[in-house]
Amino acid sequence: MAEIKLEHITKRFGDVVAVNDFSLEVHDREFVVFLGPSGCGKTTTLRAIAGLEHPEDGDILIGGKRVNNLSPADRDIAFVFQFYALYPHLTVYDNIAFPLKAVKIPKSEINQRVKEVATVLQIEDMLSRKPSYLSGGEMQRVALGRAMVRRPKVFLMDEPMANLDAKLRVNMRTELKRLQHETGATTIFVTHDQVEAMSMADRIAVMHLGVLQQIGTPQEVYNHPKSLFVAGFMGSPSMNLIHGEIQSRNGKSMLHLTHTELSLELSDEQIASVRQQAEANELVFGIRPEHITVAKEPVGREVKASVHLIESLGSANIIDIFLGENPETGDPILLRVRTHPAFQVDVGQSIWLDFDDKHVRLFDRRTERQLVGS
Ligand code: ATP
Repeated sequence: MAEIKLEHITKRFGDVVAVNDFSLEVHDREFVVFLGPSGCGKTTTLRAIAGLEHPEDGDILIGGKRVNNLSPADRDIAFVFQFYALYPHLTVYDNIAFPLKAVKIPKSEINQRVKEVATVLQIEDMLSRKPSYLSGGEMQRVALGRAMVRRPKVFLMDEPMANLDAKLRVNMRTELKRLQHETGATTIFVTHDQVEAMSMADRIAVMHLGVLQQIGTPQEVYNHPKSLFVAGFMGSPSMNLIHGEIQSRNGKSMLHLTHTELSLELSDEQIASVRQQAEANELVFGIRPEHITVAKEPVGREVKASVHLIESLGSANIIDIFLGENPETGDPILLRVRTHPAFQVDVGQSIWLDFDDKHVRLFDRRTERQLVGS
């Protein structure tokens, strides 16, 4: 069993709190991705698990054993860095075989294990080359192979695919995930690429400013972001987040989107959660671009707005719809909508929109937390 438990980990570098009271349980055989923007503390947390950083506070347990005072070598983990360090004087084969030779594994088994990982990583025909004759992406695969060949209980990977080209990255994602499933190694994988995180993780831990923001399955994190940060970080384009407040109109409670002419009727549950949980009538309305429908004719609730910008992605169009203008900053208030590529409109044209109510999310502007049940 190799579950990893982090209990209230804090790590500072001078005045910088790189990791702040971080607690997390990674289950045995689980694949967890640490996701967040640059500088949010992902690498530092990973290095603390590996024993390469020493937190000021908190406990780290691997397989139920406290490892705070164990050296990296005694933690039965394999670490793959973004910046690989291969032995330049050894061939690819010997680089991969190195950790096995060090623990005196029989030659025939070494041969079999090296060949196996070389096949997975598509580097079979490079085994006799020296690292200086490899591209960056190839070197990175060798570094991955050197970690995989050990079959450790725990894999820690820090952006191990950063130097691979787009196509290889997609292949490697699938291969790595398959390999992890087969070997059953508990894995923590660091990335700032949310597509990588969504496609590989059993659970994603979203981090910001050293703080764990949310941990959940990719679907939970994407569909039910607990904070404005997670809502804005996940998804490309990200969730539309527009300020709003509850107003009473003709005896009905409506969510009015600030500086726009748009008001939405809310369900009783949504009104109740706003009343119970929001600190003030200062809300943020959230909806993902794929949960808005647009039409050239009046449909549904007949909300009319105009096209501001069109971005064609090939498989879809992203249309920015103008809802109003912030009088203080002069910034336009836009709603981004994902449409079928065949939906052709021109800038300035009027279109009608409708929202899928069950995908509307409401946040408290003061606490930046999602209003539960909203
Ligand atoms: P990236 O995606 O850019 O690698 P990250 O999320 O992995 O970022 P960390 O490398 O863990 O972030 O850094 C977290 C914070 O700690 C940053 O503000 C960084 O500048 C700081 N930091 C990290 N290592 C050191 C160090 N050795 N000395 C001083 N500050 C450090």
